[in-house]
Amino acid sequence: MFSKILIANRGEIALRIQRACREMGIKTVAVHSTADADAMHVRLADEAVCIGPPSSRDSYLNVAAILSAATITGAEAIHPGYGFLSENAEFAETVEEHGLAFIGPTAQHIRMMGDKITAKTTMRELGVPLVPGSDGALPDLQSAREVAERVGYPVLIKAAAGGGGRGMKVAKTADEIEEAWTVARTEARAAFGNDEVYLEKYLNRPRHIELQILGDAHGNVVHFGERDCSLQRRHQKLLEEAGSPALTDAEREEIGRTSTEALARMGYRNAGTLEFLYQDGQFCFIEMNTRLQVEHPVTEMVCSVDLVREQIRIAAGEKLGYTQKDIKMSGHAIECRINAENPETFAPSPGTVNVFHAPGGLGVRMDSALYAGYRIPPYYDSMIAKLIVHAPTRQEAIARMQRALDECVVDGVQTVIPLHRKILADPSFQKGDYTIHWLENFVAAQTKS
Ligand code: ADP
Repeated sequence: MFSKILIANRGEIALRIQRACREMGIKTVAVHSTADADAMHVRLADEAVCIGPPSSRDSYLNVAAILSAATITGAEAIHPGYGFLSENAEFAETVEEHGLAFIGPTAQHIRMMGDKITAKTTMRELGVPLVPGSDGALPDLQSAREVAERVGYPVLIKAAAGGGGRGMKVAKTADEIEEAWTVARTEARAAFGNDEVYLEKYLNRPRHIELQILGDAHGNVVHFGERDCSLQRRHQKLLEEAGSPALTDAEREEIGRTSTEALARMGYRNAGTLEFLYQDGQFCFIEMNTRLQVEHPVTEMVCSVDLVREQIRIAAGEKLGYTQKDIKMSGHAIECRINAENPETFAPSPGTVNVFHAPGGLGVRMDSALYAGYRIPPYYDSMIAKLIVHAPTRQEAIARMQRALDECVVDGVQTVIPLHRKILADPSFQKGDYTIHWLENFVAAQTKS
């Protein structure tokens, strides 16, 4: 096992990884920008190295500075967290070339899944069902029209290099295809430097359901059930649940078997998430994330597993040591992402948190790097905390989350807590009756009334 790990991230996820390391007796190295000198992840690490100025490009994305920090502190492995360099194949490669372990999959698998067209082709060949659409990149507008006619409108034009909901445009009818084609490609070129696009049928009422997978370096692959992440705004998740209120045990078993078999055939190692759209009892693969997800705690709560600990064990070459039948889901978990944003306009609200009180009690988990007096810097993501609850049933989990949100105090900046309260009180949400479009409509109705 490693004796020292460098964590190439900040905020709550850096703390989350530190916690796993500490319990495993592993020393931690934090890296930070000048804007994060007083951050909690710096205070709680065994060692800390400043890697550059506030801009992410010069600090948390600065590969040379991060590798130097690892070398001078004698770290043996690097955990990238999520975001930043977590899905950068060159980074994973460089880390290993320097004789360090990358706590994640192989560079080859990151690269393969980072290109959504290659990801879809690979999954189709491995027997995973896809959203109907083009067989690969679209060479021109005419071929986009032809595929759209074949699968039927509405359709979605998506960037091969896409992420964070960018480079994605809907064409409801044939009249809109030219504009969607042009806008998606322009956005993709600007955001990713790659204007390759593909086309999918636009599903009108799917749920976003994703499967948590772990594979070791010895060919063992298991899944930890699903997360329902349908509550999204601008394709960004806001509230997640495990399990999904929509799935039956038989459906879970079937998609779990298909997914683990596919990843075992790929020889996939470490944590990964297969994302699906689910509609009318059908699963359609949309993409795979080759890293730890923001919403991993809901899975940890229902499966009683420490996914970060498992990632570290796998990177150290250990065997999983359990099989699919040993993994049981128990009860229900919900996560609310707490962003420092205006709850109506979603404009970021950086500033100083004067008062902070984290909720507690049975079945409540708060993953956050906040403290009273902390100045939320304007340079990074606006998520400042994740509140997670676990209870025997979904109904009890909702009541527990409502109670926990009532206890939570974040004073000095605006947060989305008032919106979470409204969602949890809504009868459709309480029935579990929602799709990926539900939250946008809900927010629109709130601002009108
Ligand atoms: P990104 O990597 O940019 O997040 P994804 O392919 O994961 O893009 O899609 C993000 C979200 O966009 C999905 O969770 C879903 O809400 C929506 N979406 C993607 N593909 C489709 C589709 N074919 N039909 C309807 N909605 C879609």
